[in-house]
Amino acid sequence: MDRTDLKEIQSLPGNDQCFDCAEIGNTQWASVSFGILFCIECSGKHRALGVHVDFVRSLTLDSWKSEQVALMKAGGNLKCFNSFKASKVPMAVTDGGGRNGLVNDSNDFLERYTHMGATKYKEQLLKEIVQQSKSVIVDPDSSTTTQLSDEEKDGIYRSARLDPTLAWHKPILPVITKLIALSVQVVFGFPVFPLLLLLGFARVVLYPANTLLQGICWLVIFIPLAGSFLFGRYLYKTIINDRCPPFKSAQNFLSERIIQGRAIRIEGKYDVFLPSSTDKNIHNDKKDDDDDNTKNKRIGLILYPAPMINHTAYSQIAAKISDKGNIIVVVMSMEPFRMNLDSVENETKRALQVMYELLTDIAPNYPVSEWTIGGHSLGSHLAIKVAKATSPGTSKAVIWGCITRPLDYKSSTLSLPTNKIDVLLLIGSEDKSVNSVPERNNLLTILPPREGSSGRTIYRTIPGGNHNGFGHYERPKNQKKDGKRTITLDEQQRIVVDETVQFLLGRTSSTTSSGAVDVMPKSKAAVVGAICSKKNE
Ligand SMILES: [Zn+2]
Repeated sequence: MDRTDLKEIQSLPGNDQCFDCAEIGNTQWASVSFGILFCIECSGKHRALGVHVDFVRSLTLDSWKSEQVALMKAGGNLKCFNSFKASKVPMAVTDGGGRNGLVNDSNDFLERYTHMGATKYKEQLLKEIVQQSKSVIVDPDSSTTTQLSDEEKDGIYRSARLDPTLAWHKPILPVITKLIALSVQVVFGFPVFPLLLLLGFARVVLYPANTLLQGICWLVIFIPLAGSFLFGRYLYKTIINDRCPPFKSAQNFLSERIIQGRAIRIEGKYDVFLPSSTDKNIHNDKKDDDDDNTKNKRIGLILYPAPMINHTAYSQIAAKISDKGNIIVVVMSMEPFRMNLDSVENETKRALQVMYELLTDIAPNYPVSEWTIGGHSLGSHLAIKVAKATSPGTSKAVIWGCITRPLDYKSSTLSLPTNKIDVLLLIGSEDKSVNSVPERNNLLTILPPREGSSGRTIYRTIPGGNHNGFGHYERPKNQKKDGKRTITLDEQQRIVVDETVQFLLGRTSSTTSSGAVDVMPKSKAAVVGAICSKKNE
């Protein structure tokens, strides 16, 4: 950068003071993303946000492209300050250039520069430059944006919009085979075979002429066959009729995220949402943390969608968790069946394969040191089983809106080894499928609540939330099982993101700030009472 440019940038209003800590006369560092200057100490925290959020340059040491210089000239600390203030972005600097109470640690930085108002300002600044020069100026850090041709972008949009309601007709044969195998397995799983053998032996050898015995023999064969047929038919109908597309907004969101380089779709397998920062030390800023083991950890979350729901429906919520907690979030695709018809062993292998692929191939810059598993609805059953199978490597599981009555609801396959896996269970207060007393009692037995040293499950209820509100989809056929949300989808997901991130980062405290109520699911009345008292606070 030449002297006149440097002088011009330094003389912009507010540029003599560090944007973040208000230190005067030491602004040698710049953010090309926001067009602001700051001190060397704050530059480290800017860098930690990652180039996707914030691109940092030294005014004197680094080389500058002409469009970057133009952006710095269009920006300025005061201009950015006023815009941030107007959109309520949390800042540590006050109007007069002094300091307010904000600690200004890396958490605050993350919140500040990933705030919606900050993102908008960044985009606005870019637009100004583009209008000025009439040439395409690009965010200096997102080189991926420029390299994509229109065809490539079209391809991304096409992949995100793969018609989810019609895709079933292609793999119809494997679906049917799988269904037959599953129903035979389930129905013949009952101990009828020894009985059948005994009866057959009696019929043929001992009483060859007994017609009553003959009748019983036929019944023993016929009942399981009819049973498998009916069960298979039920599953088949469910898989076809209950399929639910994601909102278009979710598909567009995913596409844009991929174009920005912040998400990767491995078609037919999973979607990865990348944190804004590659800095693996991002989680070590806990203030009252004396456990060295939780430091320097990059957390990953593998998320299993609800049955019949296209996994794209979870794009927004996954991205928000990733943004807020600097967590890698993998949303598993359950296509083509959209429910787990495979063995837990195979699903566990699949999860381990995903962890391996991310580390070696897909996202080597984001090495995950602690994996956690989560799931929504029936997906949470799979999540628990996979978490169990991968423990002690997996120490945490998140359950969103546990489900009605699947086959294994009461079985011990869902109870966890005590003192091995921490669980967060989030339920909407309007979720009719889990708010009946017997179902809640079941949950309490399977996942004992955290009280003293016994259980390890934290129960939280989202006031006004429902069963569908964890993803971007609406399931009209589910109306009988699911109540109506009394809060917006955004509000429910904000609470879910807050609680999930706090839990995964090991920061869940006894008092919740998200708006969720800390209550054991003993009865609907208890939940309502807790919500009322929360409102009155
Ligand atoms: Zn500073």
